[in-house]
Amino acid sequence: MKTKNDTPSVLIIYTGGTIGMIENPETGALENFDFDQLQKHVPEIKRFNYNISAYQFNPPIDSSNMEPALWAKIVKIIEMNYNQYDGFVILHGTDTMAYTSSALSFMLEDLTKPVILTGSQLPIGTLRTDGKENLITAIEIAAAKDDEGHAIVPEVCIFFENELMRGNRTSKINSENFNAFRSFNHPVLATAGIHIRYAHHHIRKPKNWNQPLKPHYDMNSNVVMLTLFPGIQPNIIQSIFQVSTLKAVVMKTYGSGNAPQKAWFVQQLKEARDRGIIITNITQCQRGTVEMGLYETSLQLIEAGLLCGFDCTPECAVTKLMYLLGQGYSNEEIRHLWLTNLAGEITI
Ligand code: ASP
Repeated sequence: MKTKNDTPSVLIIYTGGTIGMIENPETGALENFDFDQLQKHVPEIKRFNYNISAYQFNPPIDSSNMEPALWAKIVKIIEMNYNQYDGFVILHGTDTMAYTSSALSFMLEDLTKPVILTGSQLPIGTLRTDGKENLITAIEIAAAKDDEGHAIVPEVCIFFENELMRGNRTSKINSENFNAFRSFNHPVLATAGIHIRYAHHHIRKPKNWNQPLKPHYDMNSNVVMLTLFPGIQPNIIQSIFQVSTLKAVVMKTYGSGNAPQKAWFVQQLKEARDRGIIITNITQCQRGTVEMGLYETSLQLIEAGLLCGFDCTPECAVTKLMYLLGQGYSNEEIRHLWLTNLAGEITI
């Protein structure tokens, strides 16, 4: 194992996103440019006394085009380079960054090294860009070790605008502010000011630092996210539940996990359950947790077999289901694992 005094090494995986975009003079739209051009705008990278290498997606993508096959590609890159590097920085568009960070937290099981996602709201070539600070600090966090030579943050995280957040606890909450991400239901893992202050007691540590990485590649996306609203129509819910390939539903209910008590609604939930469809219950509120049974308006959901989603974010709920379905577990095992805190994603 490397010791604290070895030169730290970090692999940057550049997937795309605003951080590496430039304005097309003809159309005015933002388009991607490559990592070399990006590096020209951050000469500070060379001042790190680290070994820094980069892997670039070709072509880089706007994160709206992110998909499970590309998550698997990121996992493969990390697996192939796992022993050569102390940490990994993933440059990623902000739009779906919270989905990628949630997915990776499950796909990279038994992680002992930092995987830090970051990006920016303004391209790195622009004067007021937030990309430089985000990138430089993310590299520093990816390389940070304690006195015993262990990674300080052996987790999948998002670093954005001074805060390091657990990847599967984070949501994008603002489309224009630099301060674009929040971890509503879990404290931040570090704050970057003059110093980077780590909240050591909130950071997950592996049971065994020598455990090998267990990469997972298979995700099953036969899932849907369904947000309830007053007036939602029976035929629309019915047609969703009757999609033949549907395996699981993330239902975004009201408040602490409440939903209509109408007979048709409960009947459809029960029929879907009887056909083996897993339905999980998360709240539409950004902060707080589901407590099924707290109100009368969630008792019918317990009866219909919905699974409590606790304080899981929507991004995490949907990727956790894709992951569990992708591993080929039985329905019973998925129900059990859904209720288990696998990667720090829920507070039970
Ligand atoms: N559309 C961009 C993306 O997600 C936005 C960004 O990077 O901030 O790739």
